[in-house]
Amino acid sequence: MQFANKVAVVTGASRGIGRAIAVGLARQGATVYCTSTREGGCDGTLAAIADLGDGAGKAHAIACDVTDQDSVEALQKAVLADHKSVDFLINNAGITRDGLFLRMGPDDFDAVLHTNLRGAFLVCKAFARPMAKARGARIVNIGSVVGITGNAGQANYAASKAGLLGLTKSLAQEFAGRGVTANLVAPGFIQTDMTADLSAEVQQAMQQRIPLERPGTPEDVAGVVTFLCSDAASYITGQTLVVDGGMTM
Ligand code: NAP
Repeated sequence: MQFANKVAVVTGASRGIGRAIAVGLARQGATVYCTSTREGGCDGTLAAIADLGDGAGKAHAIACDVTDQDSVEALQKAVLADHKSVDFLINNAGITRDGLFLRMGPDDFDAVLHTNLRGAFLVCKAFARPMAKARGARIVNIGSVVGITGNAGQANYAASKAGLLGLTKSLAQEFAGRGVTANLVAPGFIQTDMTADLSAEVQQAMQQRIPLERPGTPEDVAGVVTFLCSDAASYITGQTLVVDGGMTM
């Protein structure tokens, strides 16, 4: 129970990677605030955490749209009504609006940048001060390998994730003096709702590029996030940890 008495906020915790992160942190004793855009969206996550039993941390669900500043401020108020500070902030909420560049409209670009990058900016702004008050707080942003490599059909998404990399390193530099670390986790091909829509052909082609010969699971990513929040990672900041089975090495 390495995270007893720690408070975590996980955006986009209704399913997939965010749910696995919330469960992973709660398993170690953290109190976890789980967000989704929908009221009741995190019910399944709360049930999974309740199933961990008495030893695990408690979970709370709060509806929050990270593209909406008022909604993010309401999230901050709700969390700080119960706790003086926040120890772990995991910016995981993300969307895709894929399309080849010549067919990609400004709306597709803006929607992805607003959720994936501006959303993380707003949530970091809301929690930066209370995190600076905590001892050894951790920001973990969920990027993507395509933020490093680029990807045909994902100019908007790749740009948003590359932006997160810059945001993360800048936060790491500005908050190091307050004992806050900021790191980026860059997953490769992970089996979630986000990738379930890809055609069988595309999924097979991606899997063939993975040296470890399997797609990643949400738990593969959650384990790395748990590590970055642990004492073992207290001297790591401004880094990108790629979790892709070797796909982009
Ligand atoms: P997912 O299954 O589609 O889940 C996305 C989560 O983001 C949901 O909880 C969703 O909540 C939330 N969300 C979407 N828009 C939001 C908004 N405006 N405000 C707040 N929450 C919002 O996706 P996933 O595969 O688990 O991906 C999680 C993160 O990992 C994303 O940042 C994604 O880019 C990144 N990633 C995924 C992969 C992959 O292969 N799956 C690879 C690299 C990186 P609702 O309940 O409101 O819909």
